[in-house]
Amino acid sequence: MKKHNFNPGPAILPETVIQQAAQAVLDYNGSGLSILEISHRGSEFVAIIEEAISLTRELLGLSDDYHVLFTTGGASTQFFMLAMNLLNEGETAAYTDTGTWANKAIKEAKAYGSIKVIASSKDKNYSFIPKDLSALPADARFLHLTSNNTIFGTQIHEWPAVPVPIICDMSSDIFSKPIPVEKFGMIYAGAQKNAGAAGVTMVILRKDMVRSDLTHHMPPMLDYKTYIAENSLYNTPPVFSIYVTMMTLRWIKALGGLEGIQKINQAKAKILYDEIDSNPYFKGTVAVEDRSLMNVCFVCDNETLENEFATDAKNAGCVNLKGHRSVGGFRASIYNAMPIESVQVLVDTMNSFALKKG
Ligand code: PMP
Repeated sequence: MKKHNFNPGPAILPETVIQQAAQAVLDYNGSGLSILEISHRGSEFVAIIEEAISLTRELLGLSDDYHVLFTTGGASTQFFMLAMNLLNEGETAAYTDTGTWANKAIKEAKAYGSIKVIASSKDKNYSFIPKDLSALPADARFLHLTSNNTIFGTQIHEWPAVPVPIICDMSSDIFSKPIPVEKFGMIYAGAQKNAGAAGVTMVILRKDMVRSDLTHHMPPMLDYKTYIAENSLYNTPPVFSIYVTMMTLRWIKALGGLEGIQKINQAKAKILYDEIDSNPYFKGTVAVEDRSLMNVCFVCDNETLENEFATDAKNAGCVNLKGHRSVGGFRASIYNAMPIESVQVLVDTMNSFALKKG
């Protein structure tokens, strides 16, 4: 039976990308070598990383003011690496606390600067995006945001107007819609949701954010300047993951770039939220205006029915729908590569569930 993979990450990839990646493992571009065997300094891989960078620039509309870097250690490493690179001891940075990942970013940054949490949705189990950022300190070097809260299913739909650069964890919605790039001093994202396979993290860094006056020791692997100077090839990068990212970006470009993918993502999320809102057996868990187009969280109106619906969904081929333990219920992750047909299968299953029960 066909599987519809609603996993939050690592997540569904475009089928054509998986096929091309499988072929590249066997024989990369007719070279007689596997992509897993080629040198990261050879011409084949240099062409791959350069295309990945230029596609990132083209899709996001990045000017020459930005570096595009590939790092490892996941977005979790960026939680401390960004603070280490952007703050000297005693300097202030502002954060919003919008969920588990924002929280980890805050905790890690505290080792490097004076971190002010200026807004939080914790009191309401992170079910909305706080909009009042008036507590932003005048001396903050940046404001850190999490654009899409993968676990709780909230997403920023309107970027705040603030007088400081925004540093944004876009791990779960990068490349899902156009963004006003000029607002961002830095964007980072683990690739394994919208941008490829696990193992590589993208860092998009505005040149004026790079500091030459840091007073603490910077190991080269944790210093953005190393990645800038060496074109992300200081050590052996995750060659295969970067290849999969490049192929995924080609796929997004062919769909009409970020405007094209945004339309598809809006249509997919709409049919699912419409079903949640009209089906009496289900309800959404977050503020309507902050609903994520990537991670759709919902519960059964009557919690005791959840196991039965989970079984129906599984029987229909819908897998990995279980909500995170801090929310419960269900979470349908419908990233870029999720076909609308699969979302429709889930919606049909919810509909049949109501008919069966009603
Ligand atoms: N930030 C967000 C928004 C995430 O969803 C995740 C992973 N689910 C992370 C950070 C952590 O990413 P990684 O596993 O790549 O360290």
